Amino acid sequence: MSEINYFKEEFGNNYRTEVCDYITDEKIEHILASAKEPSQQEVKRIIDKALKLDGITSIEAATLLQVEDEDLIDQFLEAARKVKEEIYGKRLVIFAPLYFANQCVNNCLYCGFRKDNHQIDRKKLSQTEIRREVEALEREGHKRLLVLTGEAPITDLDYVVESIKTAYDVKTENGGEIRRINAEIAPLSTEDFKKLKESEIGTYTCFQETYNRKQYAKLHPSGPKSNFEWRLSVMDRAQEAGIDDVGIGALFGLYDYKFDVIGMLLHAEYLDQKYGVGPHTVSVPRLNPATGTPLDEVPYPVSDADFRKLVAVLRLAVPYTGMILSTRESTEMRNELFEHGVSQISAGSRTTPGGYDKKDKNKKELAQFSLHDLRPIDEIISGIAKDGYIPSFCTACYRLGRTGKDFMDLAKPGKIQEFCRPNAMLTFKEYLKDYGTDKSREYGKECLANLMEDLKEDNPKLAENIADKLDAIAEGEHDLYL
Ligand code: SAM
Ligand code: SF4
Repeated sequence: MSEINYFKEEFGNNYRTEVCDYITDEKIEHILASAKEPSQQEVKRIIDKALKLDGITSIEAATLLQVEDEDLIDQFLEAARKVKEEIYGKRLVIFAPLYFANQCVNNCLYCGFRKDNHQIDRKKLSQTEIRREVEALEREGHKRLLVLTGEAPITDLDYVVESIKTAYDVKTENGGEIRRINAEIAPLSTEDFKKLKESEIGTYTCFQETYNRKQYAKLHPSGPKSNFEWRLSVMDRAQEAGIDDVGIGALFGLYDYKFDVIGMLLHAEYLDQKYGVGPHTVSVPRLNPATGTPLDEVPYPVSDADFRKLVAVLRLAVPYTGMILSTRESTEMRNELFEHGVSQISAGSRTTPGGYDKKDKNKKELAQFSLHDLRPIDEIISGIAKDGYIPSFCTACYRLGRTGKDFMDLAKPGKIQEFCRPNAMLTFKEYLKDYGTDKSREYGKECLANLMEDLKEDNPKLAENIADKLDAIAEGEHDLYL
């Protein structure tokens, strides 16, 4: 089937959509211009408001983004640290990306999977290969996956759905299993989203890349992804199909970071107003070099200082929305950003289809882009626990139907803490018992003991319940959660 016929058949009349006028270049530029040169008093007012944990508006966020004064920046970085601590405690949710395939009909100028890149080999994993990948991931202790593909007829929705089922079905020794699969695949029609929902995915994620329509058009010259409106309206179709946990993001470095932060926040506001719940997660990927792409340099480089700033502003603006950071970032940067807002991280990642199966020799030539944090998962876990954070493999909310608005209704009054902290402890204990090394067990033991002390103080009855469950895990039980 020709490319054009495929898209017509796949999307029919829906393919072209009306302009999504809740986000326009003019609107974002206007917000940024009206927030220029803020007074110290105004910045302090916004920080105080953010500390009440109710979020801040996109105009207020723009005001913080415009701040250049180092002392004021330090003040809102500190506020973001407090908000993060108050809502998420020390938890960091851990997941691994799993690439099913790297064929793609799009030509995103920054991506190694782009159609016109002839420098990489193409690979679509068979169901047997997916099984092997998942076995390898389970044997490292992973319980949560994010599955990804390029956009191509060869990896249509039926293939993705079959592959998700395969991944859920893989069981290994020590109770090894995948308990939540999130999906980051090309935008679908509402009908197709209904099929995807049946495969029991958790969150559906799609990055807008940049919210600036002119820059978007330059960077996405052909293929279905060149349709900005189809992509921006994707979360409406996901929500219509009943997928109420959705994740948004921008690829920082493609355009002015301030513009894209405001784009993300307008997107979040739109979803919140329309569906009663904003995005479940926001992602903050930064552009990395990729083999065979025509971009010789990052169009709008984001310095580490600006990156820190944008993470903090997002944390203050959407305090209850999870924030995801990938291994695109270095170990040092990741450690810093945990403090200022990040709540979920990938670990031990490969962006290569087949990258986890140790026997695959072709990894480099298949990758989407290069990564900075290449440490194995146990090293990452040890580092996190040593720094006083709790790695969490929890999947309880999604499995108990605490999703979308139901999740936010628990999160906003702080009730979710009663579940998150104990569940993080239980899943971390399970990891340490089944997959830990001497090093992670040593740091983990101390980390769990400190948490238990805190829990005893805050809620002695719950602490007793959790102590029993931790003992049961030590005896070999699996998958205990609240
Ligand atoms: N193909 C689908 C799409 O584009 O939406 C699925 C996800 S794609 C495999 C995952 C994401 O990788 C893209 O949305 C893009 O933001 C990111 N990406 C692509 N090239 C990148 C690069 N060179 N550095 C960092 N992230 C990149
Ligand atoms: Fe294809 Fe996604 Fe890469 Fe674009 S970012 S070329 S759509 S895999």
